Amino acid sequence: MYNLEKSTAYFNNLKNFLPGGVHYNFRLPWEERPIPLKSGKGTRVYDLDGNVYVDFYAKFGAMILGHNHPGYNEALRESIERILAVNHCDIDEEVCELIVRHIPCADKVRFGLSGTEIVLNALRLARAYTGKNRFIRFTGHYNGNADNLLGGRMKSAEYPVPVDYKGDFRGTAGRAASIMEDQSFLIPWNDINFLTEVVDSYHDDIAAVLMEPVCINGGGIMPKPGYLEQVRELCDRYNIVLIFDEIITGFRMGLSGAQGYFNVTPDLSTFGKAIAGGGVPVSVLAGKKEIMALLEEKKVIHAGTFNGYPLGLVAVKTTIEILGENNGENYRNMEEYTKQIHAILLEEAHKVGIPMVIQGPANCASYHCTDRELTSSSDWNSNIMFKDAVINSALARVGILVSTVSRLYSNISVNGDDVEFFKERVPAGLMAAKKIFDEVYS
Ligand code: PMP
Repeated sequence: MYNLEKSTAYFNNLKNFLPGGVHYNFRLPWEERPIPLKSGKGTRVYDLDGNVYVDFYAKFGAMILGHNHPGYNEALRESIERILAVNHCDIDEEVCELIVRHIPCADKVRFGLSGTEIVLNALRLARAYTGKNRFIRFTGHYNGNADNLLGGRMKSAEYPVPVDYKGDFRGTAGRAASIMEDQSFLIPWNDINFLTEVVDSYHDDIAAVLMEPVCINGGGIMPKPGYLEQVRELCDRYNIVLIFDEIITGFRMGLSGAQGYFNVTPDLSTFGKAIAGGGVPVSVLAGKKEIMALLEEKKVIHAGTFNGYPLGLVAVKTTIEILGENNGENYRNMEEYTKQIHAILLEEAHKVGIPMVIQGPANCASYHCTDRELTSSSDWNSNIMFKDAVINSALARVGILVSTVSRLYSNISVNGDDVEFFKERVPAGLMAAKKIFDEVYS
């Protein structure tokens, strides 16, 4: 178990100035104990006490190339030395064209900085395009940190508007009054009958269906066969804009995202995190030309001081180029080593008597302490989530960083040494977790 003396002191002091000592918070019922890191190379990062970690936290999935990737860093350095922020630079067209080439729904693209912001812009476009107001979102999905997107639960099946409830870890005080009820419906995902009934009843008021094409934030749940196709048909039938939020799946499920993987093309799609390799923030709104035309015609506003800044564009271009090298060899390697790592985690968990499954796309999979794959985000109950979180902390103490709560974000630098590292470290981490489970549940 690692000594975290310096990290702990640092964190305790930080709390004096940074609320909770963290840059980011939900209402999770446990306290997060972040480990400040000071350097990184490839898959590995190093903390203040000199401990080494395999970084499968990856800044919430952004670091898809690993740390200190030589080609990526060199491109960013060159860009900084050439030109910083200007309104247009000489690679605008090249980067737009690169995204358009890979992403099926992308006739045209616009840039932003955060995922939240770009999702809100997609919703504005959908409203303007359809002349309707509401959007449908789904239980367990996360689409950003905005009043109209966060948390809640369905009021009733008859009138499925989202309402706040006590104990919602994605709920928040301070929301604008009625914003969720007035703007959206919140319904179970992967249930085509449910969606069909809501759309049949309320289509006159529904501008968009907004979803993660794989429910990553709800535990790593794949769409049922045919579900995405059926949603596509329903949206076509009722003039509803289908938005895939690919802020995680984009570039983790391949260069054409989940839409390419499943061969279902949305009308609009949002990207963020890994699209710029993690060094700098960029988000992307990609969409069909008839909808993006509203921006050309200036019917819809999309603004932002740093939209399309050169360093961000260089980061996107370089990330896509590196990911695409040698006909996808980087993806194949990443997936192969990552699957070996998953197998070790599963095997060791079962050896110490912890039920476990690993599910979701390989490069953004989640483990869960249960013996049955989650088929709905509601299966991810507080008992499983608590155990998942205990394992997260226990693995950190032996040098393995996992993203909240139990997501394993891989990167293309992963290799055989990392597999060995997992083999060596995982048993002690899981044994420590098992001890806690035995105490809590005895
Ligand atoms: N959509 C999805 C699917 C996400 O996972 C996230 C971030 N976790 C967001 C949107 C919001 O992105 P950001 O944090 O950059 O605002």
